[in-house]
Amino acid sequence: MDFSVSEQTQTLLARTQRFVDEELIPLEPEIQKGWWHIEPLLQAKREQVKKLGLWAPNLPQDIGGMGLPLIDLGLMFEVMGQTPIGNYVFGAQAPDAGNMEILHEFGSPEQQDSWLKPLAEGAIRSCFAMTEPQTAGSNPTLLTSRAVRDGDSWVINGHKWFTSCFDGAAFTIAMVVTDDDAERHQRASMIIVPLDIPGIEHVRNISIMGHAGEGYFSHAEIKFHDVRVPAENMLGEPGQGFLIAQKRLGPGRIHHCMRWLGICKRAQKLLCQQALGREVRNGERLADQQTIQNWIAENAAEIEAARCMTLKAAWTGDHYGWKAARTEIGMIKYHCAGILQRVVDRALQAHGSLGMTDDTPLAHWYSHERASRIYDGPDEVHKQKVAQQVLGSLA
Ligand SMILES: Cc1cc2nc3c(=O)[nH]c(=O)nc-3n(C[C@H](O)[C@H](O)[C@H](O)COP(=O)(O)OP(=O)(O)OC[C@H]3O[C@@H](n4cnc5c(N)ncnc54)[C@H](O)[C@@H]3O)c2cc1C
Repeated sequence: MDFSVSEQTQTLLARTQRFVDEELIPLEPEIQKGWWHIEPLLQAKREQVKKLGLWAPNLPQDIGGMGLPLIDLGLMFEVMGQTPIGNYVFGAQAPDAGNMEILHEFGSPEQQDSWLKPLAEGAIRSCFAMTEPQTAGSNPTLLTSRAVRDGDSWVINGHKWFTSCFDGAAFTIAMVVTDDDAERHQRASMIIVPLDIPGIEHVRNISIMGHAGEGYFSHAEIKFHDVRVPAENMLGEPGQGFLIAQKRLGPGRIHHCMRWLGICKRAQKLLCQQALGREVRNGERLADQQTIQNWIAENAAEIEAARCMTLKAAWTGDHYGWKAARTEIGMIKYHCAGILQRVVDRALQAHGSLGMTDDTPLAHWYSHERASRIYDGPDEVHKQKVAQQVLGSLA
C-alpha cells in the first residue's frame, strides 16, 4: 500500500493551500451575512481558481475537471475543506459533485449537454431529492414519492425534505418509485426535474439549529404536485435508482471524510494558536495546561489514524474497485464523523466564549457538521453493515 503522491501533486496541494489561506479564509466573516451576499464574492474567486487551473479537481478532464486519482483528490478535499467556502469555490461542492458524477456515468448525451455541461462550468447549481419526512431515510426502499408514466412524460407526486441547496438551483435529481411491483431495490428511479416548471412547491427552507439559511446554504422541504417531465429525463434505466445511488455514495464518502479531516486540521490549528496566545494564570498559557495538551495530543492521534484509514479506503477503491472497499468506506464514514465532532468540540471549548461566536468558523462547524453523523447514512446503519461484514468474514 502506497499513499505517496507525485511532486506534481505536492505542488498542486501547496498552490491550493496558498489560495485557501490568502484568498478564502479572509472572506469567512462574510459567510454570516447570508448566501445572496457572499455569492458574487465567491463567483469572483471561482474565476481566479479557473485561471490557476485548479477548477473541479473531482471531475474528469473531458468535462473540464482535473481528473485526479482518488488519493490525490482526497488530499485536495482535505485542503479545500479547511474553510466552509472551499469546496464551492473550487467547483467540488456537494450535492453538485455527486450529481455531476452520476450524470457523467449515466446521463444521455442530451442530458449531459443540458445539465452536466453548465453544472461543470459552475454556471448553474443542482440538488438531490431523495429523503422524505414521512419515511425513514435510512432505508430508502420505503420511499413513497412516485412517478407514473403518461404517454411521453413522467408525472411526479411526492413530498421531500432536506433537499440541500434547492433554493436557487436549476434542477434536482429526484429519487422516486416508478414500479411498485418490482423487487425492493428496483422499485425506484432517478429523474431529472428542472425547477422552473409548474407543480413544484417550495414549502420552506428548514430551520437548522436556529437558522433557515438561504441559497446554497439551505435545506428545503418541497412538494411535487403532478409535475410533468419528458420521458427522456429518466437518468439511466427505470429501476436503476439504487444502483446509481450506490455509485454516487462510494467516492462521495471519501470526499466527505477528507473534507472533514480538513476541518479537523484547521480546528486543531486554531486550538493551538489560541492555546499559545492565551495567558490563564501566573504567567502560564493555556498551552501549558495538561488538559489542553491532552486535547491537542488526542486530536493529533485521532486525525492521523482517521487520515490513514481514509487514504486506505481510497487506495483500495482505486486498485480493487468500490465493492472491495465497501467495509473500509462504511468504517470511515462513522469513524471520521465522530472524530470531527470531538476535534471541533475540543477546539471550541479551548476558545471559551470566543468559541461560541461567529468570529471563528468553529461554531459554524459545531452546528452544521453535527449532521455528518446522519446524512449519507446514519452512523448506526453503517455500523450494522460493517458488523455484518466482519461477522460474515468469520462464518
Ligand atoms: C444537513 C443534512 C443535509 C441533507 N441533505 C440531503 C439531500 O441533499 N438530499 C436528500 O435526499 N437527503 C438529505 N439529507 C437527509 C439524510 O440523508 C437523512 O436524514 C438520512 O438518510 C437519515 O434519514 P432520516 O432523517 O429519515 O432518519 P431515520 O431513517 O428516521 O433514522 C433516525 C435515526 O434512527 C437511527 N437508525 C436508523 N436506522 C437504524 C438501524 N438500522 N439501526 C439502528 N439505528 C437506526 C439512527 O440513529 C438515525 O439517525 C440530509 C440530512 C441532513 C441532516
